[in-house]
Amino acid sequence: MTFRRAAFPVLVLLILGAGLGLSQNKKGKKEKSYPKKEFYSGEPIKALIVTGGCCHNYLYQTFALGSGVQKVANVDFEVVNVGGRGTAAMIDLYNNPDWADPYDVVIHNECFANTAEPEYIRRITEAHREGTPAVVVHCAMHSYRAAEIDDWREFLGVTSRKHDHQSNYPVKVVAPEHPVMKGFPTDWVTPKDELYIIEKVWPNATPLATSVSEKDGKAHPVIWANQFGKARIIGTTYGHTDETFGDDVFIHLLARSIIWASGKGETAAAAVE
Ligand SMILES: [Zn+2]
Repeated sequence: MTFRRAAFPVLVLLILGAGLGLSQNKKGKKEKSYPKKEFYSGEPIKALIVTGGCCHNYLYQTFALGSGVQKVANVDFEVVNVGGRGTAAMIDLYNNPDWADPYDVVIHNECFANTAEPEYIRRITEAHREGTPAVVVHCAMHSYRAAEIDDWREFLGVTSRKHDHQSNYPVKVVAPEHPVMKGFPTDWVTPKDELYIIEKVWPNATPLATSVSEKDGKAHPVIWANQFGKARIIGTTYGHTDETFGDDVFIHLLARSIIWASGKGETAAAAVE
């Protein structure tokens, strides 16, 4: 764990897990090699986790996500855990319009429902529209809920403003051919978690899995893929509890989401020179 910038008045951690070695090929030429991992063994994917805010155990979630994904894929994580535990914050990270440039993918797992400033929100979404992929988790869907502009919701691929009670929700895979759903069980039931009510699926978004509301019997997307500008986005509304982050099905879903969104899985062979 390393602090990235001393001047940064927030918690910034670096989790380097992928490692790098040099080996010689048959012709004696030195080539990069990376640890063999079940899902992805190529050049480490550079991922940023943005987390913090209300209502969730983000320190644990970040640790579980980072360490769990690194067991199956070569991903280096930086973590920006800022903004306290309230429902509104404007964090320094986004002051720089090029904030996303160093990363192959950004994981949004933050919870700031009452931040609503359009300029601030557009500094986040524009970086993605220009091509930085994202994986959006749980309360990211209710972040910037108070905003009148729709940019964040279009970026997510869904509009949600409320959730049902905590329960164990069966998850039905509706797009089994999608790379993100590879290996996902057909009979997975979530640990205790919240079902987010999806009031709109945006035109470029495709549901990959759904769960049914115990209140009104309607099916809601709980995993989906979205195309936002040049960027691939993968979202899941699950992720409220520590138990969900302790479940390998969920962590492996996030691992495959990071790999697919980054596009690195498709160039893994080429990445090893
Ligand atoms: Zn929650």
